[in-house]
Amino acid sequence: MGFVSTTFDVLIIGAGPSGASAAVHAARTGLQTLLIDASSFPRDKTCGDGLTPRAIHQLELLGVADQVTGDYFNKGLKLHGFGGSVEAPWPETYFTNKGSAMSRMEFDDLLFRLAKSHEEVTTWENASAQDPILRGNFLEGVVINHAGQEKTVKAKHVIIADGVRSPFGKKLGRQWQRDEVYGIAARAYCETPLSDEPWIHSHVELRDEDGVVQPGYGWIFPLGNGTVNLGCGALSTDTRPAKINTKKLLSFYAGQRRKAWQLGPEHDVASALLPMGGAVSNVAGANWMLIGDSAACVNPLNGEGIDYGLETAAMAVDTLVENPKRDLTLVWPHRLRDAYGETFMLARTAARLLTYPQFLPMAGPLAFRGPLQKAIMPAAARLMGNLITEEDKDLLARGWQAAGSAISWARKGSPLWDSTSSLV
Ligand SMILES: Cc1cc2nc3c(=O)[nH]c(=O)nc-3n(C[C@H](O)[C@H](O)[C@H](O)COP(=O)(O)OP(=O)(O)OC[C@H]3O[C@@H](n4cnc5c(N)ncnc54)[C@H](O)[C@@H]3O)c2cc1C
Repeated sequence: MGFVSTTFDVLIIGAGPSGASAAVHAARTGLQTLLIDASSFPRDKTCGDGLTPRAIHQLELLGVADQVTGDYFNKGLKLHGFGGSVEAPWPETYFTNKGSAMSRMEFDDLLFRLAKSHEEVTTWENASAQDPILRGNFLEGVVINHAGQEKTVKAKHVIIADGVRSPFGKKLGRQWQRDEVYGIAARAYCETPLSDEPWIHSHVELRDEDGVVQPGYGWIFPLGNGTVNLGCGALSTDTRPAKINTKKLLSFYAGQRRKAWQLGPEHDVASALLPMGGAVSNVAGANWMLIGDSAACVNPLNGEGIDYGLETAAMAVDTLVENPKRDLTLVWPHRLRDAYGETFMLARTAARLLTYPQFLPMAGPLAFRGPLQKAIMPAAARLMGNLITEEDKDLLARGWQAAGSAISWARKGSPLWDSTSSLV
């Protein structure tokens, strides 16, 4: 086994959407960057493949939105359940009002190739970050197994984007707060002649084979290529664990939708866990920071994380460019809290509510069929689409922000607000 030592401005561990886009942003500021991934591209990733306008906006900034929306884009979300259906077009915000969906095999490869096209970026595939070399919480180097060869890489800054399980983050002390709400989800692909349907569909009345309503939703995201991504996810907490087998639930859900969508058999079925809403601690050290899924930047209400991955990538590069010599241990969690703290806290609280078995069967019919339907459902679609922004000045946004501040204030005493141990 050879031993090689190299030095870069930035080392990025993990080349999913978060890591690959961080490499693009780093390259644009002239930083010599090494981007590594344990897999080789193209590679699959268990996902719903849905891209809301918020993600498309980030892709515009990266210069690849047209390559994603060129062949297929969608206009909004159709929500179904409890005897009703609502059509919610993506709203006109400063984001684009186009959404899309693209298989992660293709999408992640697109972003990886974009990163690779920058001369400041060196890429290593089949390169797994194994061990940190630490001095206190300063990361002096990383031992990497690159196609069987052991290499030590030194970098001024290290961005860790190693996904939901964050194996390297764990070695730096990253901890998942298991008492917070988390998701369990499964997806499959199905052939259909209806894959050009310009809406994504969510079924929020997700019943298991015994007819019991589950705290989650089923989705059908058309891909515009003869297939749909079909899946289901449920929310869980340690005290109220979702008692479901997601793959079985997925097959039941596919059966219910088969006729309307003329679906072929499910294939490439895969499932995964989703820590959400910033429910991890120790997301930064002196010269390193966690982004995307490794920092649990996933919306607890819809399981969406690609947009947060792309956004935290840009924020991370900004942060280290603005603070080239500062210790990031407190700076990075602060930055994340500023951007997402209130939204995540409110979404986590709402998601926790959904895990009470009485809640959905009671609230669902009211939302879909009651007199409040017109007001509630477009709002729900905005929440599901991650489209509440500081710039939104309408009633919903103000209500959301006020509730966020109130909940943040109410939970201030909780250890989650301890900035040395947690993101939110
Ligand atoms: C069933 C399901 C459905 C979902 N649906 C959606 C959806 O429709 N829309 C949406 O926006 N989000 C969705 N999500 C969430 C979304 O998949 C994630 O938020 C997104 O993949 C995060 O990207 P990432 O780059 O942070 O991590 P990843 O995409 O997981 O990339 C992490 C990378 O790190 C690499 N890696 C890991 N360890 C190491 C190591 N030690 N050394 C080197 N490399 C390493 C891995 O090989 C991988 O390529 C879904 C998730 C699930 C589970």
